Amino acid sequence: MARYLYRIKAATLRLVLGSVSAQRARIIGTLMTMVIYLACVLAVWFGVVLGLTDFGRARVFTLILLINPSLFYIVIRCELDSRLTDKEMTMLQMMCAIVVMCIAYAILTPAFRSLTLLLVPLVMAFGMIGRFSLTPSQGRWLAVFTLTAYGSTMALVGSHWPAIFDPRQEVINFLILVAVVPTMSIVAAQVEQLRARMHEQRRALQATLAGLELLTSHDALTGLFNRRFMVERLAREQERLQGESVLTCIALVDLDHFKRINDQYGHAAGDDTLRRFGEQALRCLRETDVIARWGGEEFLLLLSDTDLPMATAVLQRLRMDMTGDTLWLDRPELRVTISVGVVQWQQGETADQVVERADHLAYRAKNAGRDRVMSEQAVSVEYP
Ligand code: GH3
Ligand code: MG
Ligand code: MG
Repeated sequence: MARYLYRIKAATLRLVLGSVSAQRARIIGTLMTMVIYLACVLAVWFGVVLGLTDFGRARVFTLILLINPSLFYIVIRCELDSRLTDKEMTMLQMMCAIVVMCIAYAILTPAFRSLTLLLVPLVMAFGMIGRFSLTPSQGRWLAVFTLTAYGSTMALVGSHWPAIFDPRQEVINFLILVAVVPTMSIVAAQVEQLRARMHEQRRALQATLAGLELLTSHDALTGLFNRRFMVERLAREQERLQGESVLTCIALVDLDHFKRINDQYGHAAGDDTLRRFGEQALRCLRETDVIARWGGEEFLLLLSDTDLPMATAVLQRLRMDMTGDTLWLDRPELRVTISVGVVQWQQGETADQVVERADHLAYRAKNAGRDRVMSEQAVSVEYP
């Protein structure tokens, strides 16, 4: 039963508001305007009951007040407004509302004329501070339009029917508008500024958060993942290995005689070497492989769904690429080699244990003369 009611509610909402969210927002705004207008219509009809105005005026007032938002509802619901931006649509709706209120001002009896004046700041607040608020310059234009429309209406009715519209009263009414409308416009501009500042602050905060996220997972020098990230990634892989029977290899890469590079060419050249190694490794590895800077000139690689011969081949390629001519074109005298220990992750083995084994093999590669990939099955000694 509850599901049935929910479906009816959803279908009704879809029928009335449409299904596109931007369209829904516009329709909700128009329906809210309609509610305010309805309240005004009820007030005027109450006036008819009290004898403050006559039936004919109330009828015309009702018609013009309800036709305006109804037309906008039809236009928006039938998606005829798609060419207008939200702000342009707001501007158009507000200008129409002002025109309607000016007509209402001219046809209502003095007892109700103040009602349309009261609506002016309300309409302006709605359009200037609401969701689709106008820009400050649009707000200024709307203020000028409002004063011009009301000023002309007041001048017209005051000069044509001075018996009904006392010209002195019209001047006072206009002066009140002159005070209220620009003030509303200024307040709206300030609100818009505040909103823009908040928007900018939110954007800056998001950028800072994204930067922080990058910092916590990446190494600042090479741009590769950092140790912290890799530790988490290894923990996840350890869990995966417990549940599934998959092949994963771990490799520890250590740059050979790196201290010498620093000593001979300077620290900046050392940094450059680390960066280039990172770039080269990323070029060699597959998308599923993960590489992280594990320590100073040590890198840890996680090769998922890879058996030991395949992992060894990948690392041999990386080792050979490192000594390739193209990598050090601007420093032809530089020769950077790597020593690698590569192992297969055994079932039941912890991340610490498997890294320890890879580290041990890398150490053996060093002892065996460097520039080589040492896997636990066989020792590979390949010189370029
Ligand atoms: P081996 O072949 O035995 O690995 O010798 P090695 O010189 O590479 O190893 P060692 O551990 O003696 O020296 C590593 C050097 O790496 C020492 C340290 O100053 C340098 N290093 C660590 N981090 C950085 C870095 O971020 N930038 C630079 N330029 N050097 C670094
Ligand atoms: Mg080292
Ligand atoms: Mg080293």
